[in-house]
Amino acid sequence: MVKKAAGTTRSAGKAGKKYVYLFGKNMSDGNASMKELLGGKGANLAEMAKLGLPVPAGFTITTECCVDFFKGGMKNPACLEAQVNAAVEKVEKKMGMKFGDKVNPLLLACRSGARSSMPGMMETVLNIGLSSETIPGLVKKTNNERFVFDSYRRLIMMYSDVVMEKAEGIEPASGLGIRKQLDGIMEELKKSKGYKSDTDLSVVDLKKICEDFKARVKKELGKPFPDDAVTQLWGGIGAVFKSWNGKKAVSYRRIEGIPDDWGTAVNVQSMVFGNMGDDSATGVAFTRDPATGDDKFYGEWLINAQGEDVVAGTRTPNPLNNCTRNEQNKHLLSMQEMLPATYKELFDIRNRLEKHYKDMLDIEFTIQNKVLYMLQCRVGKRTGAAALNMAVDMYNQKLIDGPTAVMRVTPTQLDELLHPILDSKAEKKAQDAGLLICKGLPAGPGGAVGALAFTSEKACEMGKKAPCILIREETNPEDVEGMRAAVGILTARGGMTSHAALVARGWGKCCVVGAADLHIDEHAKTVKVNGKTYKEGDMMSLNGSKGHVYAGSIDMIDASENPGLKKFLKLVDKYRKMGVRANADSPEDAEIARNFGAEGIGLFRTEHMFYGKNSEKPLFALRKMILSSTLEERVKAVNELFPFVKKDIMATLKAMKGLPVTVRLLDPPLHEFIPHTKEQQEELSKSIGITLKEFLVRAESLKESNPMMGHRGVRLGVTYPEVTAMQIRAILEASAELGKEGIKCIPEIMIPVTCCVQELKDQKAVIAKVAEEVKAKYNLRRLNFLVGTMIEIPRACLLAAEMAEESDFFSFGTNDLTQMTFGFSRDDIGGFLGDYLDKGILAADPFQTIDQDGVGYLIKHAVKEGRRTKKDLKVGICGEQGGEAKSVEFCFKAGLSYVSCSPFRVPVACLAAAQAAIKAAK
Ligand code: PEP
Ligand code: MG
Repeated sequence: MVKKAAGTTRSAGKAGKKYVYLFGKNMSDGNASMKELLGGKGANLAEMAKLGLPVPAGFTITTECCVDFFKGGMKNPACLEAQVNAAVEKVEKKMGMKFGDKVNPLLLACRSGARSSMPGMMETVLNIGLSSETIPGLVKKTNNERFVFDSYRRLIMMYSDVVMEKAEGIEPASGLGIRKQLDGIMEELKKSKGYKSDTDLSVVDLKKICEDFKARVKKELGKPFPDDAVTQLWGGIGAVFKSWNGKKAVSYRRIEGIPDDWGTAVNVQSMVFGNMGDDSATGVAFTRDPATGDDKFYGEWLINAQGEDVVAGTRTPNPLNNCTRNEQNKHLLSMQEMLPATYKELFDIRNRLEKHYKDMLDIEFTIQNKVLYMLQCRVGKRTGAAALNMAVDMYNQKLIDGPTAVMRVTPTQLDELLHPILDSKAEKKAQDAGLLICKGLPAGPGGAVGALAFTSEKACEMGKKAPCILIREETNPEDVEGMRAAVGILTARGGMTSHAALVARGWGKCCVVGAADLHIDEHAKTVKVNGKTYKEGDMMSLNGSKGHVYAGSIDMIDASENPGLKKFLKLVDKYRKMGVRANADSPEDAEIARNFGAEGIGLFRTEHMFYGKNSEKPLFALRKMILSSTLEERVKAVNELFPFVKKDIMATLKAMKGLPVTVRLLDPPLHEFIPHTKEQQEELSKSIGITLKEFLVRAESLKESNPMMGHRGVRLGVTYPEVTAMQIRAILEASAELGKEGIKCIPEIMIPVTCCVQELKDQKAVIAKVAEEVKAKYNLRRLNFLVGTMIEIPRACLLAAEMAEESDFFSFGTNDLTQMTFGFSRDDIGGFLGDYLDKGILAADPFQTIDQDGVGYLIKHAVKEGRRTKKDLKVGICGEQGGEAKSVEFCFKAGLSYVSCSPFRVPVACLAAAQAAIKAAK
């Protein structure tokens, strides 16, 4: 029975909040739904006890108490002592033992348990209650002196580390902490006696270890190890509370976004012992395989051990059963073989728990003299593949319904499945070894390992022989060949919508941009990072989902081929209400997009035909067009360009087999296409019929101070209507010819970068004229096509009601809309975004996830105003945010008809859209 609580603020016994909740057979106060108050562990212990499972009795001190502990200046609330005393008495009764008793002592464990799992981030103390008073009684009772002193040495180690050092804020230099020192004492003794394992230690050894431990604790920490059960318990409770603000826990919360004011619960539970001999054990298991999702009971156990030994990794745990056998443990006996009856009991519990929780669980158990006890259960962490496979299996097994199955896989987990990734264990190792050399923006998901290539040409050459990573200050359209050839792309500059990011994502290629610590010397073919220099051919590894750059090679795993994917996506589509299209510019991408479930193309960027493979001829004609200075010259160049544009559009329309295709008219700043090499410049001047000097004058005149806000988008069509006319003719002729072949297509012509309705009227006049000509040419009575606009400029959002008068549809170009709303250059944000995120000025990169307050406000306004003019106005989004889960949910709520994103993100967008619809229906 507990008598005195050290550090309570007021006298004991004062009535107050209920801080203590019991759990155990027929005495649980809580249940699984009380995670906020009892923490995950406490709530589930209560639930398991309620289910009648063998849970050693105990009690949970609430998270609220932890919060009050900190509010009260790290002092226990006044009424806690009386509540704990009463709870200990009840536990004593249930267990038939007494805490601190000389004859029949009960030992307790003190474990943390926050609302959401923070594995290994907070502290635990086991075997509380062992002292010179209780030890003889326990020895007599158990007739197992070895077990008692093994437990005692564990208590001294844990207690001195957790309560006397960490909770006191003592920060010894690395390697000099008390736990390390005590470990050293034990290792030395083992070495001197030639022991391999802790289990070789005899009673005499353990007794000596305990004495040595206590002496070292006193010497190092200036206080004796407390020889009193009550002091130990309150020390344990206080230390668990304090561990909420321990360094590890605080930084984990930062990463996971867990609020600081949640606090942790403390679970005080009767000890059961896995270290009582060879018929005792401890283990951890998953109700299904957490790596693959296979419906197989999966776990490990250690004979004659306590829980910490499994995690510590000092002994190779035995497999639970045959399914858990692997290379390391194949020689060890399984629990199924050694303790078949206890295994069967555990297996039955596994089935009951899954049925009850309807999810895969992670469980911890202990076997004391062949008797099984359950110490924990919680929803288990899993890989993307496992999440997907389990959702499909559990749905087929009728364990969960469709909406639950769809909600079970996070968009990030699904994304993980679509790209090969770095092996997380190998990545962690590399990180621990200091090989994480810098961070950038996660522009293209997945992983890549390859040799560094500093130019596009070199990447093409190297890529033929072995995987390479193209490293550039930033990429431009001339780099696309090298980008294709490389397995990964790394740039020092640029943001999430920079050229490299857009292209890489479109191809589903791993890419890290804006890694500002890289100092690239293209001529020397070296890159300097934090004082170290890497050269051409040196190996690097990229994690494009996190933006991490590592020196050296890290193992990869191919997560892409999953037979469950199609089944899952079919289920997803049952609940999805918003459309999903793809941004695709070639028949190949269109094909990928369709296979992934895209319902059309939301953005076909015409200019993409001028990059990469087979682009030489159309690019040459485009360059001629750009550098023309008279209408005559331009018309000639435009006519040369026409067949290429028509062929390209036709191929994509055909690949989409009747699904809608939104073709955007030429948009980019023209100077991007001016050739840089003298050879190319000479060839082009000759073809236009001008001198190189004249060519250079014209090229110079195309340069702009602020090209992103310069002569681009609809402005090109306004100045050069013949360029619009050529594109419209290409689109409509392609469509008419396919129509004659029996292939239905309704092209959607999209005018970019508009800011006023007059621009639309101007372009629509050109379109109408060409449409009449095409009708006449093909002898058609009707030509089906739509004309709409991109909404990329805040003014267009504000005047959306007018814009809608001349639009069949809107598509938000949120790359430019974000750029124009924030005034942040989409190509240069990488240089300062990190500071904005670190200082909390921005919560997220607005080029990745829609800024709902600002850009989102404009979108909602434009949707409302546009539909005021046209009730059924079709509205989509084709900026990069269209494939990001939170933005997709926003688009659904804003009433958009569809989102459009790169082909590899289509499944993720489908999932996010379905999840948004399911959430909204709740
Ligand atoms: C946009 O601005 O969001 C868009 C899709 O167009 P681009 O990225 O080609 O400017
Ligand atoms: Mg744009």
